[in-house]
Amino acid sequence: MRVESWVVRGPAIPMTWEAREERAGPDEVVVEVAGCGVCHTDLGFFYDGVPTRHPFPLTLGHEISGVVVDAGPGVEEWIGRAVVVPAVLPCGACDACRAGRGQICPNQIFPGCDVDGGFGTHVRVPARGLCPVPDLSDPQANPSQLDLPLLSVIADAVSTPYQAVVRSGLAAGDLAVFVGAGGIGGFGVQIAAALGALAVAIDVDSTRLDRMRAHGAATTIDASEMPTKQVRQRVREVAEAHSIPTWRTRIFETSGTVAGQSTAFALLGHGGVLSIVGYTPKPVELRLSNLMAFDAIAQGNWGCLPEYYPAIVDLVLKGRVALRPFVETRALGSINSTFEELHHAPANRRVVLIPER
Ligand SMILES: [Zn+2]
Ligand SMILES: [Zn+2]
Repeated sequence: MRVESWVVRGPAIPMTWEAREERAGPDEVVVEVAGCGVCHTDLGFFYDGVPTRHPFPLTLGHEISGVVVDAGPGVEEWIGRAVVVPAVLPCGACDACRAGRGQICPNQIFPGCDVDGGFGTHVRVPARGLCPVPDLSDPQANPSQLDLPLLSVIADAVSTPYQAVVRSGLAAGDLAVFVGAGGIGGFGVQIAAALGALAVAIDVDSTRLDRMRAHGAATTIDASEMPTKQVRQRVREVAEAHSIPTWRTRIFETSGTVAGQSTAFALLGHGGVLSIVGYTPKPVELRLSNLMAFDAIAQGNWGCLPEYYPAIVDLVLKGRVALRPFVETRALGSINSTFEELHHAPANRRVVLIPER
């Protein structure tokens, strides 16, 4: 079928609207895009020389929801279904996948990096790993009356902190500290709170912190107003007030900044766990021996296994993780000006681009 998309021909050169032919091969589907979120990573690919695995020309966009309109041999049952397309689609067959480590699958498909992504009318992806969305017109399945374009942010902004939270071993009654309450951390705080943890949001933007107080944060700390030492003291006071020991504290770096990474590392105490969720290409100086002295753990996180998606969709549809205050929708045609705007000033809300029909 004939599809159209915004194609990147070179770094920071305005994207052009181009047509191509797509047909679903074996075990593949073509999804008519309902919405595609703009991620910090897209800006990195477009402006900062972060390499895509498939060279330009390429269509970006890896935070996709839509409806399957074509399916190849073997996966015809997907036709007509509304889906969220996970940003990382592991192959399911290699040694890493069989060991439960699909995040590092060498054959993984990351739309908008390995293949043409979601900033277009359609996207062709493997069927394996797609997350079906329940009937959104059913008020029982969808009490918050969310629409399919909005659900696109599940594919990265919500699922990535979800996997980080799961892998950290966070349990009800633990302390979950998020350094950075923007696109990723804002959802992370809500996920941790939904799982019964006491969530603390740290940021340098008071607007973001105000929003987190209404959405899951038991405490907020404005790091622009105090040195790191004092931030650490505040977190310690919260933990003590609730009798939570440091070995039940999980710290999540969700700002993707050098300052945030330094702060997050400084918050580690005995037996603590630090998860690096945000991304910055810049190096940061740390005393790694703290990990030794505290018997602490630091771990990374790439995307989210497709297996976790149904539980995430459930949290969102039940309203336990709010999307609307954290998402803004725009027409896909605004992509060049939207990228330019976000490149100069990071938005407080995730921008989802919706194809005009
Ligand atoms: Zn992303
Ligand atoms: Zn694999």
